[in-house]
Amino acid sequence: MTEQGVDVCLLSVGADLPWLIGYQAMPLERLTMLVVPRDGDATLVVPRLEVARVNEEPDVFSIRSWGETDDPIAIVSDLIGSASTAAIGNRTWAQFLVALQRQNPGLNVTTASSVIGPLREVKDAHEIAALRRASAAVDRIAGQLQSGEIPLIGRTEAEVSADLGQRILAEGHHRVNFAIVAAGENAASPHHEPGERVIAAGEVVLCDFGGTMLTDGGAGYCSDITRCVVTGAPTSEMSEVYEVLFEAQHAGVAAGGPGVPAEDVDAASRKIITDAGYGEWFMHRTGHGIGVEEHEDPYIVSGNTAPLVAGNAYSVEPGIYLPGKFGFRLEDIVIVTESGPESLNHVDHRLVTVEA
Ligand code: ZN
Ligand code: ZN
Repeated sequence: MTEQGVDVCLLSVGADLPWLIGYQAMPLERLTMLVVPRDGDATLVVPRLEVARVNEEPDVFSIRSWGETDDPIAIVSDLIGSASTAAIGNRTWAQFLVALQRQNPGLNVTTASSVIGPLREVKDAHEIAALRRASAAVDRIAGQLQSGEIPLIGRTEAEVSADLGQRILAEGHHRVNFAIVAAGENAASPHHEPGERVIAAGEVVLCDFGGTMLTDGGAGYCSDITRCVVTGAPTSEMSEVYEVLFEAQHAGVAAGGPGVPAEDVDAASRKIITDAGYGEWFMHRTGHGIGVEEHEDPYIVSGNTAPLVAGNAYSVEPGIYLPGKFGFRLEDIVIVTESGPESLNHVDHRLVTVEA
């Protein structure tokens, strides 16, 4: 906060609050806000009816509850006091920000990601262990997909998506974040919404899924994996395209490491795809950071020249999407260690054929 010239942080809904104190604000019209002054003690302003949900930690923050006829904006404003610059959580509802600005017209406001982002993107050993557990869980599900244990042919994308969701929970996540299942030509749409399309034989089925797994401290950590299978023998075009993607993803994983600009990881994957003539069909960045949110800093994208550091965790997920035909994406979560990149996903990276 001192480096960023921030006098007070104001954290509400979103991942910053659980990351800091293990408590997730209810996403409701009643304001919950942790007020963290640069000099002084932190206070959690919370609706009285939700106080029982908070595990109080007097050494970390005190609780200031408010009743149904109190004005929480006035309480927060009082705690802001004479601060001149506030950093407010990026996901805070606009109605609270606007009300705070009305009551504190001289207050400069910036986003809290300037303060919390650089902290959150460097994971400690406890966080890396949590990411490792979550990745191992979705690896097991991807293994079930590749072994044919999860039937595909004759089911709709939506049915397979629901099946993946159940397995995500059964493997210890407390929440399913997404379970994309895209068959045939639908796999050419990177963020396809699984629907009533019935999966047939001889098709690519792209599955991209993940959830959030709670830890002791209360903040959950995310998994995120993509594997593709073919329901029967792949065509030569499928095999050729997948081989390019396989090499590109491998190169992207290998390119990471301490001191490496994040954009170099993107470039490593993209060069192989572009050189093979498919650059036009790889229309998204190569990856995103992951932690308590499924997408967070550091972003693996051209223009992000910030050097990676040990403790970063991010996805490497290049894709090739041929409209009207099929698409492939291959995704692992990678952590940066002092000695280089380490992939947390180990399940088979090849294009696996399933018979059912
Ligand atoms: Zn994914
Ligand atoms: Zn991802």
